[in-house]
Amino acid sequence: MEKLKNYRSFFLIGCSECASLCGTGGDPELASMKEAIEAEGKTVTGTLLPKTGCQTLGTKIELKKDKEACAAADAIIVMSCGAGTQSAVEIFPDKPVFPSNDSLFLGNMTRFQIFDERCSLCGECILDQTGGICPVTGCPKGLLNGPCGGTDNGKCEVSPDIECAWVRIYERMKKTDQLEDFKKTLEPKDWSASRKPATLNTRQKKEEKK
Ligand code: SF4
Ligand code: SF4
Repeated sequence: MEKLKNYRSFFLIGCSECASLCGTGGDPELASMKEAIEAEGKTVTGTLLPKTGCQTLGTKIELKKDKEACAAADAIIVMSCGAGTQSAVEIFPDKPVFPSNDSLFLGNMTRFQIFDERCSLCGECILDQTGGICPVTGCPKGLLNGPCGGTDNGKCEVSPDIECAWVRIYERMKKTDQLEDFKKTLEPKDWSASRKPATLNTRQKKEEKK
């Protein structure tokens, strides 16, 4: 609300995908946000729950029907992840855009509405050398050769709620008969392979294949 104090009217954008599943940017949350903003004496000119907020072009097309409501808003509030928020920045180059959410991570949905962080998108995958379990993400220290001295009965020293990634890697490599590889020392990671901030043009790759 502190950030919004200089603006009077807002258009709200959620997301039908992760933000809806997480209960942070679906229809009920858009309605709550609208209520909270109106309680401050401000106006909500409209709301949209796009199919996929991070899909900039798709969201832009879906917003066409809300052209007037968007034009009437002083600012946009996005109730999805940082990617969805930045879609709105591209769609509304002349309007302030504010995120309502703190995006935590890219997660695998392991059960309905339960997200587990498995990959940090490092650009140089080493899963072939770690039994398919990622220590860059699964170990809080990101150790490439573990476990560290703090592992305790299969738990991580950082928190007993975390299974030590390197114990998991060992157990899996043992089970899959890969322990010879487990003994090999992994080289320091080549962080120049990290492509952040990246643009991925899969269209170009398809054209190169032709
Ligand atoms: S090694 Fe890198 S790309 Fe592979 S799973 Fe881990 S973070 Fe993701
Ligand atoms: S106990 Fe295991 S998961 Fe935790 S920091 Fe050490 S190696 Fe990483």
